[in-house]
Amino acid sequence: MSGESELAALRQQAEACRACPLSRGRHRVVFGEGDPHARLAFVGEAPGEQEDMQGRPFVGAAGQLLDRILAAAGIARSEVYITNTVMCRPPGNRVPTEEERAACRPFFDAKMRLIAPRIVVLLGATAAQSVLGPGVRITRDRGRPVERQGVTYVPTFHPAALLRDPSKKRPVWEDIQRVRDLYRSLPPEGHVPEHPPATPSASTDGRTPAEPAGGGRPGEAAALQLRLPVP
Ligand code: SF4
Repeated sequence: MSGESELAALRQQAEACRACPLSRGRHRVVFGEGDPHARLAFVGEAPGEQEDMQGRPFVGAAGQLLDRILAAAGIARSEVYITNTVMCRPPGNRVPTEEERAACRPFFDAKMRLIAPRIVVLLGATAAQSVLGPGVRITRDRGRPVERQGVTYVPTFHPAALLRDPSKKRPVWEDIQRVRDLYRSLPPEGHVPEHPPATPSASTDGRTPAEPAGGGRPGEAAALQLRLPVP
């Protein structure tokens, strides 16, 4: 079976899944979408109302903002893969519990194994902690690429956080530019990394966890104003 048909089979399995209580309130399972061979993936927390109704990830207000951020960075949504830590909407958009995330984790791991992205952007604390461990602090660790088993993980704020707090626009734009630069400098296809990560390792940018996240070149703040039309 090819990777794509395995992914389709996994989607079918997910659509029938009742492994956690989130199945009871969902309208649609939001499996994920994008290029099944994407080298860049985005992982959010959980589907919201619009996603639950449409069965697609990041299609509500936060998703539209993510689209604009990607467009500003010159990255087409169709060339990446987008998914969440859980595939069913938590009631009232609450944070999915550890048990719910654990129940959905085999699906997440299987998706990542089949798609095998080289760079994974973790949108928000829930996604970052689910993938990199509970010690991640999004305000401290955002923008720091972490290399594990050939995959580079970059945590940043969730687009929904930008809608609530516009002061997060600049750090997210810095992070996305770093992601874009990493993505554009990926070596040619050929190496398929293992997934999921097993053990923590150092940041690829040489910073220690205690160092503040930096980023942005001179003039990029202006680019943020001009190219990221965030409300
Ligand atoms: S959130 Fe994941 S584990 Fe829970 S019911 Fe939905 S698909 Fe299954």
